[in-house]
Amino acid sequence: MSVEKGSLSIHSENIFPIIKKWLYSDHDIFVRELVSNASDAITKLKQLSSMNEAQIEDNPTFKIEILLDEKAKTLTFSDNGIGMTDEEIKKYINQIAFSGAEDFLNKYKDKSDKDQIIGHFGLGFYSAFMVAEKVEIHTLSYQKDAKPALWRCDGGTEFELEAGTRQTRGTEIVLYISEEGESFLNEYTLKSTIKKYCSFMPYEIYLTVIGKEPSKDAEGNVIIEAPKPLNTTKPLYVKSPSECSDEDYKAFYRDTFHDFKEPLFWIHLNMDYPFNLKGILYFPKLGTEFDTIEGQIKLYNSQVFVADNIKEVIPEFLLLLKGVIDCPDLPLNVSRSFLQNDGFVKKISNYISKKVADKLTGMFKTEREEFQGFWNDISPFIKFGALKDEKFYESVETIYLYKTLSDQFVTLEEYLEAAKEKHENKVFYVTDALQQAQYIKMFKDHDLDAIHLNHSIDAPFISLLESKKENVSFVRIDADLNEHMKGEESFSEEEKKQAMDQLESMFKDALHMEKLNLKLESMKDSSLSGMVVLSEESRRMQDMMRMYGMPGMNPDMFKTETTLILNSNNSLVKHLIENTAIDHYTRALICEHLYDLAMISHAPLSADAMTKFIKRSHDLMLKLI
Ligand code: ADP
Repeated sequence: MSVEKGSLSIHSENIFPIIKKWLYSDHDIFVRELVSNASDAITKLKQLSSMNEAQIEDNPTFKIEILLDEKAKTLTFSDNGIGMTDEEIKKYINQIAFSGAEDFLNKYKDKSDKDQIIGHFGLGFYSAFMVAEKVEIHTLSYQKDAKPALWRCDGGTEFELEAGTRQTRGTEIVLYISEEGESFLNEYTLKSTIKKYCSFMPYEIYLTVIGKEPSKDAEGNVIIEAPKPLNTTKPLYVKSPSECSDEDYKAFYRDTFHDFKEPLFWIHLNMDYPFNLKGILYFPKLGTEFDTIEGQIKLYNSQVFVADNIKEVIPEFLLLLKGVIDCPDLPLNVSRSFLQNDGFVKKISNYISKKVADKLTGMFKTEREEFQGFWNDISPFIKFGALKDEKFYESVETIYLYKTLSDQFVTLEEYLEAAKEKHENKVFYVTDALQQAQYIKMFKDHDLDAIHLNHSIDAPFISLLESKKENVSFVRIDADLNEHMKGEESFSEEEKKQAMDQLESMFKDALHMEKLNLKLESMKDSSLSGMVVLSEESRRMQDMMRMYGMPGMNPDMFKTETTLILNSNNSLVKHLIENTAIDHYTRALICEHLYDLAMISHAPLSADAMTKFIKRSHDLMLKLI
């Protein structure tokens, strides 16, 4: 065959900018494209052979080899797949220039190839020019009496096609690396790129570094190591769940996510109809309460890595999990804005979400003990899911658990049922067990129960529950004096009113306050002098303002919204009411101290109040001696 020279046609001038702009924001993608082409070439040959269309050796060892020659500045991708005749090169490699980039993309979009051929990415081969100034193809087709062919192109509009020298079936793509691609001549960079995209490719991939010093043992003897492939050709997720042991799942998790904490549990997705989707989703264990939850969902297309955390395909709240998802039917060749509006992509996303909901409800029903054990780790995630996705909320609505004051896990229904007689449809909750200890004690003493809600996601989650369950309201344990804590009233209405006015002016005077909300109530527990409460609405408003950092907000701004409830059954309070003759100094001391005692169990004292409290305690003790 004589040297054939030709021009890739004027259209090709448009090709290179399009490749760069349209398809590939990351230069490293050329590795994925060339290895995918090599993998396709092998798959095609295997398929032809199984159809008796190609005669090949018995028990062939198919593999992809990558050669790095730092000195010569070349990278070579070689396979022993189907190869190409010169006619095929003209058709498949040169012809894009004639068909134009758009036609090419359209053609591939419509190609409903349901087998394992990867090449939906299109234009892949030309991505080599992102890192190479010159590319050569040395190839020999599987066809009987085929002649080797050699194609070369320097990234411009000119190509050359001539008789080649390749002796064995398959293709070798040689990239003469340009300045822009030089980082890929580094073994480490190249290796990690291959691992990133090709870890699960179906044929073994080997990397050879030309001129690399062999490893030596302590005596200086060369260690002869059998070459090891860089990939796993059959990742766990492509297997059927019945073939996988717990240990397999854990090992796959460790290897893929480099997380050495064991996952809590996992969901193996395996679906053929109406679309093809495989994968494993893991629920990671949170390290400490303060760990940020950062998931990673790796998306694959026929065992080729596409990208991490594609929101359009994976529901946002599921991005908190770790996992791999492989969907060969995904139209990945198009932009993300297309994905967003694609009905098919939405279906995938719904399917994944439903599978997760099914797994969780299944576990709740059949393994509640175990489910409770996981609850602390998974609840922020499930609550986030509810806030983000109404459908998800509806499907897991009944499985939310709440920890009670006696450390039992109950559902909302169970809590409400148990509390029905005492406070119908009212849920009392604790956000900080230490700070609210006094109120918790009172609740326990009066045989009342509350639930712990101490994660930052709980505030919006409560609001969601209240909007979904019209009758139910959530009230923090320190929002008011509970009816059940009230004792018998010893004052008449008239007397009570009078005593209240009297106490109010005493406290205002002692505390130098212009405004003070004060109430007198009879509490069953006479040892308690008083408590400070803040209505649920006011507190939520405060929390919200704090969360959004409202400008000009002063932490004392809401001080006046709290109410001091004094216990008319308490002897100190009684003393204040009954002994009007006590000296001014002692009375002020008692008032200040009672106020601080009530305040202390409501919120931390300010630095100034704390200093005064300590000094006053000291003075009071001096009075004892
Ligand atoms: P795609 O892979 O999406 O088809 P490419 O531009 O990557 O697009 O490749 C164009 C065509 O060139 C492929 O469809 C295939 O026919 C041919 N080709 C590329 N690389 C190889 C190879 N290593 N072996 C055989 N044929 C190849």
